[in-house]
Amino acid sequence: MSDDCLFCKITAGKMDTEFVYEDSDLVAFKDINPMAPVHILIVPKKHIPTINDLKKTDTVLVGEMIQIAKRIAKEQNIADEGYRLVFNCGKMGGQEVDHLHLHLLGGRQMKWPAG
Ligand code: 5GP
Ligand code: ZN
Repeated sequence: MSDDCLFCKITAGKMDTEFVYEDSDLVAFKDINPMAPVHILIVPKKHIPTINDLKKTDTVLVGEMIQIAKRIAKEQNIADEGYRLVFNCGKMGGQEVDHLHLHLLGGRQMKWPAG
């Protein structure tokens, strides 16, 4: 837990954010500024700033994030039509919140290359 981290506060339940999923390690909630009809963030409770800070021991946690994204995509009825999972990393990667999170985006046609 980092005292000045927004996502630490959200995952600790201090911001009244509604979770679409929660377990002992992860939460998922709707992005406040959605870029697609479905835009959900899958966020570990542990404070890991970026992908660059991942340790070998975080491998299972990251796998769980993807498994939960897959499960939520099915619940949101976007699994069959397809969706996008995104980790932004650092300034040039477009990361604004320095607490690891996985974006689940769907419900519209995605473009490539991503902007
Ligand atoms: P990043 O740019 O770091 O990959 O993504 C951060 C995401 O967090 C952005 O899509 C932004 O809209 C979202 N976000 C920022 N603050 C809040 C908040 O207070 N609540 C929620 N639900 N999403 C937030
Ligand atoms: Zn944090």
